[in-house]
Amino acid sequence: MSRPLAVIIGAGVAGMSAAWWLGRSGWRSIVVERAEDLRDGGYMMGISGPGYETAGRMGLIPPLEKVSYAINENVYRDRRGRELLRLRYRDFLKDLPYLALRRNDLIRVLRDALDENTELKFGCTVETIRTEGDRAVVGLSDRSTIDCDLVIGADGFRSASRRLVFGEDENVLEHLGYRFAVFDVDDNIKLEADFLSFAEPGHLAEYYALNGGRLAAMHVWRDREATAPPRVEDRWSMLERVSATSHPMVRQFLKDGAAGDPPTIDSLTMVNLPTWHKGRFVLLGDAAHCLTLVSGQGAGMAMASSEVLAQELAAAQTVPEALAAHDRRLRPAITRLQQRSRRMAAIFIPESSFAFHARNFTLRHMPRAWLGKYFANSIRSEIDLVST
Ligand SMILES: Cc1cc2nc3c(=O)[nH]c(=O)nc-3n(C[C@H](O)[C@H](O)[C@H](O)COP(=O)(O)OP(=O)(O)OC[C@H]3O[C@@H](n4cnc5c(N)ncnc54)[C@H](O)[C@@H]3O)c2cc1C
Repeated sequence: MSRPLAVIIGAGVAGMSAAWWLGRSGWRSIVVERAEDLRDGGYMMGISGPGYETAGRMGLIPPLEKVSYAINENVYRDRRGRELLRLRYRDFLKDLPYLALRRNDLIRVLRDALDENTELKFGCTVETIRTEGDRAVVGLSDRSTIDCDLVIGADGFRSASRRLVFGEDENVLEHLGYRFAVFDVDDNIKLEADFLSFAEPGHLAEYYALNGGRLAAMHVWRDREATAPPRVEDRWSMLERVSATSHPMVRQFLKDGAAGDPPTIDSLTMVNLPTWHKGRFVLLGDAAHCLTLVSGQGAGMAMASSEVLAQELAAAQTVPEALAAHDRRLRPAITRLQQRSRRMAAIFIPESSFAFHARNFTLRHMPRAWLGKYFANSIRSEIDLVST
């Protein structure tokens, strides 16, 4: 009997994980990706909790460890260079497993784990999606159409597939009041720690030491109005404005960075939808419920929810029943994580000088065991998602 076929839109963490899990459940997949090829680098992220467990069941911990970075401590300095805080990761994580790695290294590991049941189509976008009866038909930008059993929208928080199926994003996007920027730069200064942060009211700039004398830089700052990403030509100047009174090292990294590729800049925006499926279409990962970087679980949940989807497809009589069951199982965990993101966003980077110093004082003097307990509980809280 021939395998059922899924078209997966987006070769990100969600799309690649879904292709892997569907392959294991007897499906074939065609993954359609807008980019011309897999990219290098990308921002640093942590995989822990449910995502780590899912990666373990995929047999991917050894290859992920090979591309991961040891991060020991994060040193926080203010705009004058004074030390505000020093956080040792093992104080929080204890023996909880955690992998720090670059987004695109994770994607490569997922891609390398795919078998002949997955076809990747780069440089291609989706233009139409029709789901009727027991079939779905996807129209692509290369003028081809694919008749399939399931369509998965895994094209990130600004998902085009979501708009094609659910309509315009009215009341769907919840802006958390921040923008972020990520870029790579040469480490001409030699960081004093593997992870260095400059914090000031309303703005945080962080640097991770990478292999080969490079740094992964991330800025996050308060911006209530942020909606669409800025034009490419405006990105460095936007960062310079945000960093006008930051520590000289922050401004130097911007000058050095400007010789390379433009930064990625976007807003911290959650996606809220009452349902993630319609007919034979389902949303996965950020396209469904973007948790944003403040949750620390967006990629992990994209991987875990792919596993849940494959389990439900294997168990249900029909595809729509499986999509409904996937929604029911995932929803409580996503609701909790989104609530946590909202709470975290409120205190992540205090805007007023008073709140900023009060927050730092609290973190400095709070017993490490309490902080550790908070982090460990956050990581553990959804760990049983797939097994229950
Ligand atoms: C700075 C930063 C730090 C983060 N840190 C962490 C962390 O520590 N831990 C964690 O778990 N999560 C973290 N996250 C969140 C995590 O990166 C996301 O939740 C995760 O990448 C979502 O994966 P995704 O596949 O749903 O979407 P994406 O990674 O956005 O992938 C979507 C893919 O779809 C493609 N695409 C877009 N539109 C189309 C189209 N029209 N047609 C075809 N293809 C299309 C894109 O090119 C992309 O390849 C962080 C995010 C950021 C920005």
